[in-house]
Amino acid sequence: MANSSAYEILFDPIKIGKFTAKNRFYQVPHCNGGGHRDPAAVAAMRGMKAEGGWGVIFTEQCDVHHSAEPTPYIELRLWDDKDIPAITHMAQRMKSHGALAGIQLLYSGLSGSNLYSREVALAPTAFPIQTCANHPVSARAMDKQDIKDCIRWHANAARRAKEAGFDIICLYGVDGAVLDFMSSETNQRTDEYGGSLKNRSRFLRETVDAIRQTVGDDVAISLRLSLDEIDEDDGLYDGELRELIEMHRDLPDVWDFARGEWSEDSGPSRFTEEAVQQPLIEGLKALTDKPIVGVGRFTSPDVMVAQIKKGILDFIGCARPSIADPFLPNKILEGRVEDIRECIGCNVCISGDITSSPSRCTQNPSFMEEWRKDWHPENMNGKGASKNILVVGSGPSGLEASLSLARRGYDVTLAEAKTELGGRVLLEAKLPGLSAWKRVVDYRLHQLQKLPNVEIYQDSALDHQQILEFGFQHVAIATGAHWRKDGVARHHLLPAPISSKMPIFTADDIMEGKLPPKGKIIVYDDDHYYMGGVIAEKLVMANHEVILVTPQAYVSQWTINTLEQEWIHSHLLEIGVTIMLNRGLEEITRSAFLSDCIYEGDTIKLECDAVVMVTSRLPNDSLLQELQKVKEQWHDYKIDTVEAIGDALAPGPIAWATYAGHRYARDLDMVKQQDTLSFKREVPQIGER
Ligand code: ADP
Ligand code: SF4
Repeated sequence: MANSSAYEILFDPIKIGKFTAKNRFYQVPHCNGGGHRDPAAVAAMRGMKAEGGWGVIFTEQCDVHHSAEPTPYIELRLWDDKDIPAITHMAQRMKSHGALAGIQLLYSGLSGSNLYSREVALAPTAFPIQTCANHPVSARAMDKQDIKDCIRWHANAARRAKEAGFDIICLYGVDGAVLDFMSSETNQRTDEYGGSLKNRSRFLRETVDAIRQTVGDDVAISLRLSLDEIDEDDGLYDGELRELIEMHRDLPDVWDFARGEWSEDSGPSRFTEEAVQQPLIEGLKALTDKPIVGVGRFTSPDVMVAQIKKGILDFIGCARPSIADPFLPNKILEGRVEDIRECIGCNVCISGDITSSPSRCTQNPSFMEEWRKDWHPENMNGKGASKNILVVGSGPSGLEASLSLARRGYDVTLAEAKTELGGRVLLEAKLPGLSAWKRVVDYRLHQLQKLPNVEIYQDSALDHQQILEFGFQHVAIATGAHWRKDGVARHHLLPAPISSKMPIFTADDIMEGKLPPKGKIIVYDDDHYYMGGVIAEKLVMANHEVILVTPQAYVSQWTINTLEQEWIHSHLLEIGVTIMLNRGLEEITRSAFLSDCIYEGDTIKLECDAVVMVTSRLPNDSLLQELQKVKEQWHDYKIDTVEAIGDALAPGPIAWATYAGHRYARDLDMVKQQDTLSFKREVPQIGER
């Protein structure tokens, strides 16, 4: 192995309790949208990280008792012994290449909806439960017996985790009962479990003691706490975390620090930098003899080494970087740093958990498809009988298709109309806050340049006649999509009444530098993902006065699923964007945008100088249509198939485009069984009758 000496320190073995992690790469617990519903898929996903060289690999949240469960989110469960086999399978896959396997135990408490179990939630003090969806139920206050029970439930789950083969138990204190007790806001008790920090941390201490008594030193213990104590909502006040660590300095075998709430801890690249935790975590190591883990969307080995050398961290904690590239540690070990598929910080992976669907990753199309489709993130299936493929368009779908086809061994020709390769990603990465997204292009171009069987032609806008004459056996049309101008999306399914006198722009115009003349601009967002907010910001930066109008109750509503929505709303307010929610587009006159209230229909008139439509996109499929019109000639030109992929087939986020490109490459020459599922799944067994 060509381990560069500059990065040697990352491969030091580190003790955790009686175990030794083989290196400092620590995959912190992360959700995946599969959880207890898809145990084989989750186990295979974690197993891939073991193969990729991680020293420590954790599960996602695992609920210790049915009286605290997070429905509709799909996590793991150790409610009783019936849950042990699935968890055992996971532990085995995690340990398959010498990694330590960890499980994150949680009693959700105030953050459990109990929509599935229908139990009444328990908390130190009676409060409405604190879930994002504001479910209209309350927790009751625990009495002393409840506290004993809750501690025993943790110990029971720990016994099951040990039986399943886990090496480390992480007690989660960023959420759930541990935090409910430690926070002086959610814990207003006057007995020995409330009041002083010593009292508020009594539950934590007793729970760790109970777990230790149950598992002995056969399982190490990690404690995951939030660093963000300045924010009073979290209830640990400035300095208390330091006091807590000093008070319990040897309680766990390893400390694992998160940054505030999940939306802060998983800050998107649009709003947070790599190693963002550093100012909060600095100095904590001096308070304990036990190793420290911290996160920060680490993808650069130089930044990782600096964290160790400066004495800030002992372990490099990663969730998203391990999703984007499960082989990150091995690539560093083998001196292949330039091969790392860096996370772009888009948080699409998190949307899987929030929407209870198997997570997907913009950079790594095989994430959560390792078992469902037998997709390996580094190895492609073997080459089939076909010889050559023409890919038209070099956006995320075209680049991913070209790379993955070439890796299978096919001769690939990639033609791009523009001078620069990258399609929409090139344009979007120039928008405010989105520069990290360019990694989607950079990674693929770098890999493509290494392959001898790919030819790339820039400045090559192809028409259907040229494509016929080239005579490639397969043609993938990856020509992308364009934003429409007529207001059609969700609020309007037919074109809106728009005066030809009003200057109308689209998101494409703004990205291509065609800005409206100075003045008051309406950005009309009926798309609801990031684009409306980003375009508004871009216009503010160009000194426009911007009003963002949307029929939704939230600005950039879908970004609730990527944990960005609150960041976006506050940022837009900060930079001076006027936000008008619950308002549609009724009509655009020569001088005004008429907007109707979606509830009452009352209309307001917004005088403006131009309107920017961020509504929906149409596929650039004219090339496909031209080729389909002459389908009977394909045979003469030796063309077998012509298929549209990515946005040219159905516009969507970039993650959908990389997935489409990858899938096209995987499926070529594979026999398709009619009417069968395109993935494996686990079907529940019918219970006792
Ligand atoms: P996707 O997200 O599906 O990958 P993009 O819009 O990012 O799609 O990329 C489409 C790319 O296809 C753009 O770079 C565009 O310039 C290129 N393109 C469109 N039409 C042609 C054509 N006829 N010949 C070559 N390239 C084309
Ligand atoms: Fe990173 Fe985006 Fe992949 Fe999540 S989906 S791991 S944020 S690239």
